[in-house]
Parts: sequence; structure tokens; C-alpha cells
Amino acid sequence: MSAAATYVCRQFVEDVTAYLDGALPEQVLSLVEEHLADCPHCREYLSQMRRTIVMTRAITEADVDAMPADVRERLLQAFRDHHE
Ligand SMILES: [Zn+2]
Repeated sequence: MSAAATYVCRQFVEDVTAYLDGALPEQVLSLVEEHLADCPHCREYLSQMRRTIVMTRAITEADVDAMPADVRERLLQAFRDHHE
């Protein structure tokens, strides 16, 4: 089994912010990209996150640190529902 097989959707949910910030270590990044190639759910989640972050930054640059936690919570919920 390759290492990619051990990368699961839950981990992507945890890593997505760092992924969008380009803050993931190279080793994790390649796992993420392999997972994304394989997983339409995570691709959808990523595009939602991207939209949300862009919107959030457009709305208020100052609150950008405060808002993602809230937004992320809602997306996590949506993501869980999506998987059930
Ligand atoms: Zn996934």
C-alpha cells in the first residue's frame, strides 16, 4: 500500500487551510494532491473553502483571522452531512 492510501478525508478537512495557504510540508502536499485526484468530495470541499476564503477576505480584511473558524465549522458540518 502506498502512503496515499492512509490519507483520508478527515485529514484533508484538517489540512485544507494550510493547503490553501501553501503552508503544508512537501510530503503532506503530495499526499493531498493524490487524494484530491481521487476524491470528488474533497475537491468540492476545497472549492467551497476557496470561495469562502475569497469572500471572507473581500468582506473584511481585518477580520480575516476571526472569521474562518466560524466558516470552517459550517463547512465541516456540511462536509460531514455530505458523507452520510
Ligand atoms: Zn476525500
